[in-house]
Amino acid sequence: TSLPADPDKENTRRQVINACYSTVTPKKTAQPQILHLSDEMRENLGISEEESKSEEFRDVFTGNKIYSGTQPYAMCYGGHQFGHWAGQLGDGRATNLFEVTHLDKLWAVQLKGAGETPYSRSADGLAVLRSSIREYLMSEAMFHLGVPTTRALSLALSGDQVMRDVMYDGNSAYEKGAIVTRVSPSFIRFGNFEILAANNDVVTLQKLADYTIENFYPHLGTPNKKVYLEFFKEVGERSLDMVIEWLRVGFVHGVMNTDNMSILGLTIDYGPYGWLEGFDFGWTPNTTDREHKRYRFGNQAEIIAWNLYKLANALYPLIGEAEGLQNALESFSAIYHQKYEKMMKSKLGLFETDTNDKELIDQLNKTLHLVETDMTIFFRNLANIEKDKPFIQQTDIILDAFYHKEEFDGKVKEEWQNWFDKYLARLEKETHSDQQRKEKMNQINPKYVLRNYMAQLAIDEADKGNYELIDELFQLLKKPYDEQEDAEKWFAKRPDWARHKVGCSM
Ligand code: AMP
Ligand code: MG
Ligand code: MG
Repeated sequence: TSLPADPDKENTRRQVINACYSTVTPKKTAQPQILHLSDEMRENLGISEEESKSEEFRDVFTGNKIYSGTQPYAMCYGGHQFGHWAGQLGDGRATNLFEVTHLDKLWAVQLKGAGETPYSRSADGLAVLRSSIREYLMSEAMFHLGVPTTRALSLALSGDQVMRDVMYDGNSAYEKGAIVTRVSPSFIRFGNFEILAANNDVVTLQKLADYTIENFYPHLGTPNKKVYLEFFKEVGERSLDMVIEWLRVGFVHGVMNTDNMSILGLTIDYGPYGWLEGFDFGWTPNTTDREHKRYRFGNQAEIIAWNLYKLANALYPLIGEAEGLQNALESFSAIYHQKYEKMMKSKLGLFETDTNDKELIDQLNKTLHLVETDMTIFFRNLANIEKDKPFIQQTDIILDAFYHKEEFDGKVKEEWQNWFDKYLARLEKETHSDQQRKEKMNQINPKYVLRNYMAQLAIDEADKGNYELIDELFQLLKKPYDEQEDAEKWFAKRPDWARHKVGCSM
């Protein structure tokens, strides 16, 4: 680790060399209060319900007390942000508390928003309630959707006021400070490797790679040059799988910088993310990325490949020859296309093989772009189709997904008719009954997702001191694939007031 000369200055901002992390002390807060707890995560960590109601729990998971025998730390990492090397970044507002092994599983536990660290640069190390609600709800929702992700244990108020630039009007204002306890097998990122390679610190780089492989990729065996390459390939596959899952459910990460890429292929850093409403490969929720739209929905696989290229560069000093890495990088495109087709076929309820499947999927993607069509509603309703009935007798399936039903006319109607004719013909090749297909599709196409406006409603309520909606959405999103009779209002298109309005990350 890197300790400053004076322990009182532990958290002082600085460049850290020859180290993977620095010890830190989380900031004491004015009036900590746990607002919500993930019971499932609590059980995963082996914490009893009674313990979770204790003062000690509240204090430990807001940074006000250091759990005995543990040493909090912040990790050093760098990263490529929006395509450019940004140098040292690091855990600027994340404090790693400790690791827990329970039921044979290892969990790293960290606070987000617990004050400055050596990596805070020009910012304050804090988080506001708005962004914390978004991270807390979304990371748990993603887990229940079956998307690889970091998790959350708790959402707490710090009791402190935090100054932020309010979006849209450029003014600053105080907001409620908050702390999310995040949990993951590991929070190591591509950027942890990149910073060491950039500093030519091959000794520490190798230590980090060996640590990562021994703890998280033990099936690859004792680390050596060949194993480092295998490690890279597996990180690549896992990262591709993650993006495929994002594309399946309509998630746009929004800030896929290499410092936000988990070495375990988990979704990490829920900042300016957004949920696809109208199906649009060109959409990004990130207002700072509106010009180039680098991190738009349909570009996420390209970006993963780009990020993996940067990881390959960082691992190169350990491998010493480029050919293996180059071959692996070149293989990712074919692997991705295969995985994508399989995923899309599952969304469409197609399990047999047909040479025209790729074309059918491409045509669907084009057709979905004709007019604003809600992705979640479209795919969920598609499961209701009857394969022996002409499309024209079951157009409701698509009409409910249209933001403007009157647009279902002329060329739009023709193109949809055309696609459905092909789809219905293709369904004839399947062996499943309508009912069987529907059951399978409903396990792939979620009914309830955290639409951008839903998170915003929970935030608006929380600002007024009402936290019930956080719990309502939290419970709803635990079962995204089930029919929940009393929750029909959440299976609905985005209201007009919320058009492309999302919170921001800071
Ligand atoms: P992000 O865009 O969220 O991935 O953050 C990029 C970098 O900025 C990371 O090193 C973060 O730790 C750091 N960062 C973001 N917000 C803050 C903050 N409020 N205080 C300190 N560091 C921050
Ligand atoms: Mg980040
Ligand atoms: Mg962030």
